[in-house]
This record gives sequence, structure tokens and C-alpha cells, in this order.
Amino acid sequence: MTRFAGRIALVTGAASGIGLSTAQRFAAEGATLLLVDRDREKLKTVRNNLAGEAHDAITLDVTDEQGWIALAERIKARFGKLDILVNNAGFGRFKPITETSLEEWRSIISVNLDSVFLATKHMMPLLAASGHGAVVNMSSIRGIVAASGTGPYCAAKGGVRMFTKVTALECAEARNGVRANSIHPGHIRTPLSAPAYADPEIAKKLLADVPIGRPGEPDEIANAILFLASDESRYMTGAELVVDGGTTAQ
Ligand code: NAD
Repeated sequence: MTRFAGRIALVTGAASGIGLSTAQRFAAEGATLLLVDRDREKLKTVRNNLAGEAHDAITLDVTDEQGWIALAERIKARFGKLDILVNNAGFGRFKPITETSLEEWRSIISVNLDSVFLATKHMMPLLAASGHGAVVNMSSIRGIVAASGTGPYCAAKGGVRMFTKVTALECAEARNGVRANSIHPGHIRTPLSAPAYADPEIAKKLLADVPIGRPGEPDEIANAILFLASDESRYMTGAELVVDGGTTAQ
């Protein structure tokens, strides 16, 4: 399949879970991947096992502004454009607000939300240069409905949801051809969530919330990301795509 032939796609958090699955699906459909993660070793393995030759593995902490500036220069010199930006890297912790330290709050906000701002800001000229740039930002159902014990995560993912809409409006006003949409997975089985599913009590509680009766798989989110990144969604911008087995329909 060649839906993304000639397209350059940057995916953050590409060494694991949803980001890894997304990178594999893009590669299978002809894209050249810029794989970004802070886990150098895992990233190398992913790069070496990906279909195709021209992919690049970039070790970067997504909260590092200087790193984004340097990466933008590198992409400009090599490709002169960026077609697709998937801001996927993120993490959360279960903890009541009263037990959360300021350091923990800042860490979750920074990785999930600051990163989206930094990537959007510094990649925008390259996305505009492509003529059909697509930004897909990883939010969560926790960017729409709250859950106890997820204060900083909900704040960050809600922030991602609204920041995506502002990005969409500013790009539309600028007529730069760039679209931005957010994606909102429900309970997905990845290394991030594996510890929860390993505990039968927690797993039962999580799945009680899922009408379809099972967690989602990473490729079920990757498929939706590819749709938002493709020309098939060319009239969608500022939208939120929920992929949650019916959790938020209740
Ligand atoms: P994961 O832990 O399997 O993968 C996340 C990847 O991001 C890892 O490779 C990690 O090294 C990388 N990463 C983390 N912090 C980073 C940083 N500062 N700089 C660079 N890379 C960093 O997680 P996942 O479940 O695939 O989650 C991916 C995204 O999907 C996250 O934003 C998460 O919040 C979101 N999400 C996950 C679920 C779920 O149920 N798994 C549900 C909704 C949303």
C-alpha cells in the first residue's frame, strides 16, 4: 500500500505501544519515518525492524526545546518539509491530588502538554512547507471525562484537546494547509497500561467501564491516527476522534 508514499512522518514515543504501532503502520504504507523517543536502545531496535530503508531514529526528550529546534534544522536540511507530526509521547500516574507533589504535576504536564506546544511551534514552518501538513495530537478519554486519581494527566490531556483546536484555527486563518486533530483512546493494552491489566481487580474495574468488554489494541489507535494524517480526512481540522470501545458513550 502506498497511501503515504513520499510523505515524511514524525512520531514521538515511537519506541513502544501506540507510537510503535503507528510507526509500523506508516512504514507499511510507504511513509519515511522520523522516530522520536528518549529510549535510545528500544528506538534502535524499532528502526532496524521497520519496513523500508530511509527511516531515522532520533533520541530526544520531547520536553527539550533546544532539541526540537535542532531537529527542525536537521529535517529542513534533509527534506525541506514535514508532512505529518504525531505528538504521541506521554504517561500518567494514579495518585490523589492531595498526595501529588508539584514535581510530579510538572513532570506529567511537561511530557504530555509542553511537548505538544514545543513540537507544534518548531515544526510548523516545515508542516506548512509540505502544503498539506497534518498534526495528530494524542489526548485521551481523560481529556474529555475525568477519573479520580488522574489530576495532572486529565489536566494535561484536556489541555492537549483545546491546544489542538487553537492550532487548527490558527492554521486555517493562515491558510497554510496544515490541519490539526486530537485522538482520544480509551483503555488500550500497551506497556504503559500493562501493570494495571496484570492486577485482576484493577483490570476488572477498568473493563467494567468498556461496553465492548475488552481493552483496545495499539493498532486500533494507529489506524485512526493514519486516517487523521491522510488526505481522506482533508476536511477535518480541530476535531476530536474518540476510539474507546464505547466508554464515553455511556
Ligand atoms: P508507552 O509507555 O507504551 O509508550 C510511550 C513512549 O513514549 C515510550 O517509548 C517512552 O519512552 C516515550 N516517552 C515517554 N516520555 C518521553 C519523553 N519525555 N521524551 C521522549 N519520549 C518519551 O505508552 P502508550 O500506552 O503507547 O501511550 C502513548 C500515548 O497514548 C501517551 O500519550 C498516553 O497518554 C496515550 N494514551 C494511552 C492510553 C492507554 O490506555 N495505553 C489511553 C489513552 C491515551
